[in-house]
Amino acid sequence: KQARLPWIKTLEQFDFSFQPSIDRKLVRELSGLGFVERNENVILLGPPGVGKTHLAVALGVKAAEAGHRVLFMTLDRLVSTLVKARQENRLDRQLQQLTYPKVLVLDEIGYLPMTREEASLFFRLINRRYERASTILTSNKSFMDWGEVFGDQVIATAILDRLLHHSTTLNIKGESYRLKDKRKAGLVP
Ligand code: ADP
Ligand code: MG
Repeated sequence: KQARLPWIKTLEQFDFSFQPSIDRKLVRELSGLGFVERNENVILLGPPGVGKTHLAVALGVKAAEAGHRVLFMTLDRLVSTLVKARQENRLDRQLQQLTYPKVLVLDEIGYLPMTREEASLFFRLINRRYERASTILTSNKSFMDWGEVFGDQVIATAILDRLLHHSTTLNIKGESYRLKDKRKAGLVP
C-alpha cells in the first residue's frame, strides 16, 4: 500500500549512541508493530533536533512496509484541513477520511498554539481514532504544557485522556543532532 510520508527516514539510519536517553529495546519493540495491531498510540516528546520526527517517520515506514495505510501530516496542516472542511460543510467526511489510515503520524504538536475551536476539532479526530487506529505524535512540549498548546485545559485533558489510555511515550532528553557539528566547532553554546 502507498504511504504518504514527506521523506524517508529509517530506524537503521538512526544513531542510538548519539541519544542515550532513548530506550533502544522499547524502540525495537515498537518496530515490531504490535502497537499498530492493538490500535495504540506512540508519543515522542523532547526538545528540537533530538530525532522525534525521524523516529516517527521511521515507525511509519515500518508500518507501510508491513502493508498498513500510513499518512503523515504536521499538526498545523491537519488543523487547517479540518477548519477548511468545516467551513465547506464537509467536516464529517473529512474526519472519516482521516480515521481511515491505520497509522497517522502527526508532527509538531506545540510549536503553534491553537484556538479553542481548533483544539475541539482536533479532539473530534482523536476521539474518532481512539481504539480504532494508531496515532504517532511528536511534541516539543511536555503534557503539563498541553493546556497552553490547546488553549483550553479541559479540551487538553480530554485529548490526553484518549491519547494516553493505550499508548507508549518516549521522552527524549538530549542534544540536537542538527547542532552537533556546530557545537563541536564552537559556533553554538
Ligand atoms: P526533531 O523532530 O526532534 O526536531 P528530527 O527528527 O527532525 O528532530 O532530527 C533532525 C535531523 O537530525 C534529521 O535530519 C534527522 O534525520 C537527524 N537525526 C536526529 N537524531 C538522529 C540520530 N540519533 N541519528 C541519526 N540522525 C539523527
Ligand atoms: Mg521534528
